[in-house]
Amino acid sequence: MRLTRNGSRGQPNADWRELNDGQILSGEFVISGRDTPHFRCSAHDVFDIYAIDYSPIRELFLGGAVRGSCLCGEVEFQLIGNPTKIYQCHCSLCRKQGGSSSNSAILAEGNNFRWISGQEKISSYVKPTGFRSDFCSRCGSPVPNPLRTTSYYWVPAGLLDDNVSLEVGAHLFIGSKASWDATSSSVPQYETMPELSEFFELMHSRS
Ligand SMILES: [Zn+2]
Ligand SMILES: [Zn+2]
Repeated sequence: MRLTRNGSRGQPNADWRELNDGQILSGEFVISGRDTPHFRCSAHDVFDIYAIDYSPIRELFLGGAVRGSCLCGEVEFQLIGNPTKIYQCHCSLCRKQGGSSSNSAILAEGNNFRWISGQEKISSYVKPTGFRSDFCSRCGSPVPNPLRTTSYYWVPAGLLDDNVSLEVGAHLFIGSKASWDATSSSVPQYETMPELSEFFELMHSRS
């Protein structure tokens, strides 16, 4: 498939022409609110923009997207919507999972998260309590996983490849941090964990 723009630059919803099997079809790209960006035209209800293998289009519409990958590069994903906040959890499980004083993660809404490659390389370990760790079976990097019963993805911030401006929005389970953990900051700290609704709100507030 090859797509060309029909009309002036600058408007995401401007008309585009699709040249597909010799046919020229008119359509439009639609980006509205938190919907997945898509292409609509007479012959196709919806094209998922992520499925379009034509880099100028992808760049134009996903220009604000952030890519992430594991250590070996097999597992790749993309976030749209410019995440701004991460949280760090200092509990004993997250310490083991990340091998450090805490993990650092983004909570991304499902609509804003896409796998690019390597999903088949992901292994999953789930404790009887439900704590889950997904990791690349080749290099062992922790990789994103859907957050239990919510519509969010847990995304390890260290996997992001693009230089994104992120700030820590909350420290969780400070009450059980390691004795050698030197965390001290003006960022909200929780002995354990706030209510989920409060937490999501905090992580998506703009400051
Ligand atoms: Zn890997
Ligand atoms: Zn934790």
